[in-house]
Amino acid sequence: MTRMTPLLERNEQFARGYVPVPLNPPAAQVVIVACLDHRVDPAIILGLRLGDALVIRNAGGRVTGAVVNDLAYLAYLAGQFFSAQVEADGLFEVAVVHHTQCGTGFLADSSFRSQAAEATGVPEAALEAAAVADPYATVKTDVDRLLTSPSLTPKISVSGHVYDIATGRVTTTLDAQHPHGSRP
Ligand SMILES: [Zn+2]
Repeated sequence: MTRMTPLLERNEQFARGYVPVPLNPPAAQVVIVACLDHRVDPAIILGLRLGDALVIRNAGGRVTGAVVNDLAYLAYLAGQFFSAQVEADGLFEVAVVHHTQCGTGFLADSSFRSQAAEATGVPEAALEAAAVADPYATVKTDVDRLLTSPSLTPKISVSGHVYDIATGRVTTTLDAQHPHGSRP
């Protein structure tokens, strides 16, 4: 038994009408960094179709070292294989999307955080870094982290957005800018 059974039935429906998507740059030329929360699925809130955008999700949609590494690799890949198909100064835009009512908000409370660290074995600093109590503040922190990362080429751009769970609306809080990193 698996709880996947009803979802696999949905997959069967999907596969019946499926047309394979070739390996091309994402049609929207966007990489979305978002929270893993089941209420904020970028495919649904942004109307993504297959092949439109790459999506990186973790707790909070935070820009961790692992996210920076993925983006550096994606930029390399795009430059190697798709430079003829994308604009010279715009391999893709990284859109950081944080949201209201994020479950990581509890981690802003120091006693909750230390109990969580104790119970899970995850270092308290890592839990603190994941917290999104004010998405407008954390999205700025994370966009700045990307703009100043030496691993990221100025050929990508970075923007910041907040998704409001109450209204279903995404608001752009930081327009796209290029990183000033040392990679060409
Ligand atoms: Zn969240």
